[in-house]
Amino acid sequence: MSLDDYRRKRDFSTSPEPAGGEETAEDNSPIFVCQEHYASQHHFDFRLQSGDLLISWAVPKGPSFDPTVKRLAVRTEDHPLAYASFEGEIPQGEYGAGRVTIWDGGTYRMEDFPTIEEGLARGAFRFTLYGQRMKGSWKLVHMKEKNWLLIKGRDEHSLAEEGGKTNRR
Ligand code: MN
Repeated sequence: MSLDDYRRKRDFSTSPEPAGGEETAEDNSPIFVCQEHYASQHHFDFRLQSGDLLISWAVPKGPSFDPTVKRLAVRTEDHPLAYASFEGEIPQGEYGAGRVTIWDGGTYRMEDFPTIEEGLARGAFRFTLYGQRMKGSWKLVHMKEKNWLLIKGRDEHSLAEEGGKTNRR
């Protein structure tokens, strides 16, 4: 894990995105962010903190709150931790050109393994999100190459169906 790919793809004299490397005060809960990205292909970027990096997936359809729906999540280059607060317009001609907004964010806790590094190595891991929209248990499952699935766990925060009613009990 490193920022090499992230930096290679971007011209920071043109793009307002953070170059990374800034020190950030830490509390003990790692953070997550889900950014909506109006690039040539609209998608969501889901990111989980690992130290001073954000482990990142592009989720074309965005997260689903229905536990029976598996959303493709394509692993992308690690981003700097500072990217979690980035919102802005990436200029035309730059990598990922288009508007980025923060759709949700908060902290997370690993469920099966003590660290995200171990979860990534195992290829499937559950975690609890403490966001405004994304709450409760979620799972990432590795399929092949860069393809993972992002799946909501069944709990009081899951929904019965897309846009449907909750199955809160
Ligand atoms: Mn993106």
